Amino acid sequence: MEYFCLGCGAVYGIDELHYTCPKCGDVFLLRDNGFDDLKQTSGQTWREIFDARMCSKDSALRGIFRFYELMAPVVDPEDIVYLGEGQTPIIEASPMLQERMGGQRLAFKNDGQNPSASFKDRGMACAFSFLKSLIRSQDLDEVLAVCASTGDTSAAAALYAAYVGGRIKSAVILPQGKVTPQQLAQPLGSGAEVLEVPGVFDDCMKVVEYLADNYQVALLNSKNAWRILGQESYAFEVAQWYDWDLSGKCIFVPIGNAGNITAIMSGFLKLHELGAIESLPRVFGVQSHHADPVYRYYDQPAGSRKFEAVTVTPSVAQAAMIGNPVSFPRVKYFAEKYQAIAGDDAFNVVQVTEQDVVEAMLTANNHGHISCTQGGECLAGLAKAREAGLIKSEELAILDATAHMLKFIGFQEMYFENTFPPEYGITPKPELANRPSLVIEPAEKDRLSAEDYTANAAQAVVEKLGLKAR
Ligand SMILES: *Cc1c(COP(=O)(O)O)cnc(C)c1O
Ligand SMILES: [Zn+2]
Repeated sequence: MEYFCLGCGAVYGIDELHYTCPKCGDVFLLRDNGFDDLKQTSGQTWREIFDARMCSKDSALRGIFRFYELMAPVVDPEDIVYLGEGQTPIIEASPMLQERMGGQRLAFKNDGQNPSASFKDRGMACAFSFLKSLIRSQDLDEVLAVCASTGDTSAAAALYAAYVGGRIKSAVILPQGKVTPQQLAQPLGSGAEVLEVPGVFDDCMKVVEYLADNYQVALLNSKNAWRILGQESYAFEVAQWYDWDLSGKCIFVPIGNAGNITAIMSGFLKLHELGAIESLPRVFGVQSHHADPVYRYYDQPAGSRKFEAVTVTPSVAQAAMIGNPVSFPRVKYFAEKYQAIAGDDAFNVVQVTEQDVVEAMLTANNHGHISCTQGGECLAGLAKAREAGLIKSEELAILDATAHMLKFIGFQEMYFENTFPPEYGITPKPELANRPSLVIEPAEKDRLSAEDYTANAAQAVVEKLGLKAR
């Protein structure tokens, strides 16, 4: 395998860690020079190989590495780190939710069911497996793994670093006050060094880039192309879930640093090239109007587009609150390939409002789903795509619920309690608020006998629920 630069095409070996091109500063992708040999095996055989591995008892192949040949075949199986990532379920949306969405067929892929409760574990499993193999083969001393994060990258990096231990130590750099309490607790609990920088993610990223350029650190942001490879497993799993038939299917994914959408397109393109799938699913990226540089780029007429970073404003889709996405050149690269094969309408970016995002999350979850705000962003994006006539009801929309709802539960609370700071631009609808109600005053507990207290509390519940005697 080798790194190749998307800017100038320069190629570098993988015996060293590279993040940006020393010649032109652009980002890398990893290329497997043996990929053409894989094509000598038929698509049908590949499907059978991957399906057979679904029942593997070998830990190394139970998770994302069951697609070993497509991901990182240079990693020795003994170096594969498996913490239960991948194999996340795709849950068909409740019939009531589909009805509410105008009869649109839709499903959520619950990537919050990964070990650190977000899709970032996919990329980390791959990056840490490679790091382990590099440390072993080159007998490196200590490696300091660092990352900037909107919360979930650091949670995942700290988890995998803590598990591998030994010569790997980890430090995470977070925008102060811009990650949720749950996301802050995760790297603290994993024992990582947690460093806060006043500002937003884009500021942290600059600090980390400075470190990677000038000091000996292993960078674990999605600039690290090994993470992109691991995240391709999302695409492989979607294909496998639907028995390798992706016709009439659309993928909705939130865009932050744009690593995830890059990986998803790259993954589907690989399967297509191998003949493991016949049609590419359409891909919809979704961005909030508070952090929408990729949307703005594609909103311009083809041929005269110009990329400009934006200054972000507070967003409930906080994990995607990024104004200058590192992987934007990768998105451009794969979107072009994707559209060349599957047509212009195979890649789209839609924009949604903060109000739409938070209410879509609440709607998903009160229909039995476990979506984070970014998953809500996907659902809001689907509604937007329907409005714009970009998708038909009979197409199946698969929405990436990128993290578990509990990581972002503070936004639900702000909505229910009507405590959003004005910068979010969200006006809660009182009728959507759900709050606990106290059925009996605590003081009654001392005043009444135990039996009376129970009877009075039960009576209050009866009245509240309008129960009928049996
Ligand atoms: C990181 C993250 C995103 C954004 O993904 P990118 O790869 O940065 O575009 C979206 N949702 C969640 C929950 C995340 O952690
Ligand atoms: Zn270059």
